Amino acid sequence: MAEDSCLFCDGPEGIEDDLVKRYDHWTVFVNLNQEHLGRCIIKLNRHLVDFFEVTEEEREELFGTVVPELKVALKRSFDPDLFNYASLGNCVRHLHLHVIPRYKDEREFEDVVFRDRNWNSHYKPYDEDFEVSDEVRHSIATELRENI
Ligand SMILES: [Zn+2]
Repeated sequence: MAEDSCLFCDGPEGIEDDLVKRYDHWTVFVNLNQEHLGRCIIKLNRHLVDFFEVTEEEREELFGTVVPELKVALKRSFDPDLFNYASLGNCVRHLHLHVIPRYKDEREFEDVVFRDRNWNSHYKPYDEDFEVSDEVRHSIATELRENI
């Protein structure tokens, strides 16, 4: 990918099946790696790099609606014990926030067992290669859509 292109602006479409909800300013979708069951990405709909340059309207929607709704959906769906939030932008320089549910005990969903190996510690290192099938990931998105 060229230096000046952006994965979130120019990347292929196709997150539709992983989409949880699209808002005026933000879009929520299920992260590819699901070692932390229900892990989602919230991305800003316009291209911006720095978290602290969002407009008041964007901030209001994120803090007042998007994150609270996602937390409720995750609670209803998978009952996490804690939420981690990460906004780094080292690999994709388009403002996005990782919402990482943390679990004291393992969870089972669609016959897959999810273990939070580092409970009570940093969410990394996690198994970068942990992947569920597209079907399971789409079911996670469906579950969240139905609970949001
Ligand atoms: Zn972008």
